[in-house]
Amino acid sequence: MKNSLKEHERVIRILDKLSKAPPRVLILEGGDLFDREKIAKYWCMLFSCKGHIKPCVECKNCVDILNNRFPDVIWLDGKDKSIQKKEVEVIQREKDLMPRYGRFKITVFNEAQNLTISSANSLLKWLEEPRDKNLFVLLVPYRLYLLPTIQSRGFILTLKWKSPVKNDLHRDEVIEQLIGFWKTGKGLFKITQKKMDRDLVRLVVFALQQALFDSVSQGEGGVLNEFFASRISKKNLWNLTYFTDHALYMLMSNVSPSTTLEWLALHFYVALSSKY
Ligand SMILES: [Zn+2]
Repeated sequence: MKNSLKEHERVIRILDKLSKAPPRVLILEGGDLFDREKIAKYWCMLFSCKGHIKPCVECKNCVDILNNRFPDVIWLDGKDKSIQKKEVEVIQREKDLMPRYGRFKITVFNEAQNLTISSANSLLKWLEEPRDKNLFVLLVPYRLYLLPTIQSRGFILTLKWKSPVKNDLHRDEVIEQLIGFWKTGKGLFKITQKKMDRDLVRLVVFALQQALFDSVSQGEGGVLNEFFASRISKKNLWNLTYFTDHALYMLMSNVSPSTTLEWLALHFYVALSSKY
């Protein structure tokens, strides 16, 4: 298994060390979906493997973890749908939260960006309970997808990124159209009439957040940075940052990506047009 994870050698080394005193909440970001799943399984095996060199990937426990049928590892998946509050609470209420075979009972939230707001809040409550035999793993493309209150409770490890977010053609196209709309007040319909992908809108929001941050900290330039630098006052910076946060909440709450983008575009337009 270590061979197939060779490109993530650094993270694997850290996990091996961490397993001696594991953090309650581990957040894995970066890589791709496949890598994150593999590494989460590696982490779970470290605590239940019966082999000599852990994880052996051959003992019954390891094989069961690989096949998602090990009783001490609960896998909540946000891959195809959002993770509902009920699902989180059902597991949380289980009396049998003590591990049966390994050292810990581990709950993995795959694609944890698809926790709804209410399930994220249930998770937060759960994290506050002192249950030292429970560990949590949250898998996300990017840590910002998680509520800040969850991020701050986790030990975050970043896997090597697969596709540099910097050059995303679709994202850049949407950004150019947004700037056009903010400058002229025209063309909003052109942007939002297309069916938007949730991940694409997230990327756009992250780019806005990054550019807002750079415009006050003089980060490297880009079309957005230049545009913001000429339009932003300290007073509306706070509002704009709030709008981007709110847009991420909308996406988490299952508001449609097009509606979210439209909301964001309009609020930015009004804030950027008003004279302080
Ligand atoms: Zn094993």
